Amino acid sequence: MAIDLEALYIDLHRHPELSFHETRTAAIVAQHLRELGFEVLEEVGRTGVVGVLRRPASGASHGPVVWLRADMDALPVQEQTGLPYASTAVGINPEGITVPVMHACGHDMHVTALIGAAEQLARDDADWRGTIVLIFQPAEELGAGARAMLDDGLLERVPRPDIVLGQHVTPLPVGTIGVRAGTQMSACDGITVTMYGRGGHGSRPHSTIDPVVMAASTIMRLQTVVSREIDPRDVAVVTVGAVRAGLKHNIIPTEARLELSLRYPDEATREKVISAVHRIVRAEALASGAERDPDFETDHMLPATINDAAATARVSTALNRALGEGTVIDHGMHTGSEDVSWFARDAGVPLVFWFWGGVDAEQFRQAYEAGTFDSDIPTNHSPFFAPVIQPTIDIGVRALVAAAHEFLDTDRA
Ligand code: ZN
Ligand code: ZN
Repeated sequence: MAIDLEALYIDLHRHPELSFHETRTAAIVAQHLRELGFEVLEEVGRTGVVGVLRRPASGASHGPVVWLRADMDALPVQEQTGLPYASTAVGINPEGITVPVMHACGHDMHVTALIGAAEQLARDDADWRGTIVLIFQPAEELGAGARAMLDDGLLERVPRPDIVLGQHVTPLPVGTIGVRAGTQMSACDGITVTMYGRGGHGSRPHSTIDPVVMAASTIMRLQTVVSREIDPRDVAVVTVGAVRAGLKHNIIPTEARLELSLRYPDEATREKVISAVHRIVRAEALASGAERDPDFETDHMLPATINDAAATARVSTALNRALGEGTVIDHGMHTGSEDVSWFARDAGVPLVFWFWGGVDAEQFRQAYEAGTFDSDIPTNHSPFFAPVIQPTIDIGVRALVAAAHEFLDTDRA
């Protein structure tokens, strides 16, 4: 009996799990893969699951090896979609705090589509020869899951890929696929900066070195990195996403911490931004008379997601053929980041990562024409993010199958 993918999606959506806590999701995935005849590896990189299917099932040569990847984790977001299947789940974040959890990035859609593709590839018996490896990755939102799976020996435990393929649901009209050769998504560094002052009584600022003022001044000056130092034709982002200092009105604290998210398309821009950030932070500490140099800690580092040009051309042709001419567009580079490319980078093989639309086409058109896209169409990570279930699942499945067939030995012309 065919897998009810809509029911699977709704179930996953109702039961989102935070990064590295995807145990329920992993168990469901493993169960489906076993029933479809895949060889299954569990707890790869803590909560990851891998499925392997070879055609023919025995023999020395297994032909081309295609990796298809989906991420499984959800986010600490309170869902506000009002959907009948909205999440009310909670989880424990890395700081030990209970937080609401929602599939606000659509990874439930990614898992559903990959299970659907697994089913189709497993059932169209003699249609292809080669090896399919399905990667159900944990903790993409921490930028840590792909690394965890690779560090757990993934490349030695399953056939090495000839190509890595993956997809992300996005606010494009359903039926449209966005992909571009070259840089598809930015590289990203998550950096924590600690600035040190000298604490004391709030009534006696002259006897202290105030890290709050130091941090405030630094935050403002950091805004000039992109606006004054990066060529306007290039792309970069400097965001201070968290500021932590002090506990009470009348105490000047001893230190301030800033959490920075930095994005860029290439290594040259990365070096420029990082050196500017270091220079400004140090200079502001000096300007405040700090007695100790600031500390910099890199919490995560994601490489740019770079699509191989030749492989991207093949995928685009295959998807247009499978889903209709004009389905595939180049909708530009994203300043978001992904850890999918670690799989291809570590294996030294090409990657193609595309975006597929999940927004009702009519709703998209109206918002676009009214110029209200940013306010009317919820994006990934929004508490209102809600891809339409169909035909989003269906297109996600067909895209994966068509792209996989392109790289397997297949009888299809
Ligand atoms: Zn996300
Ligand atoms: Zn995502």
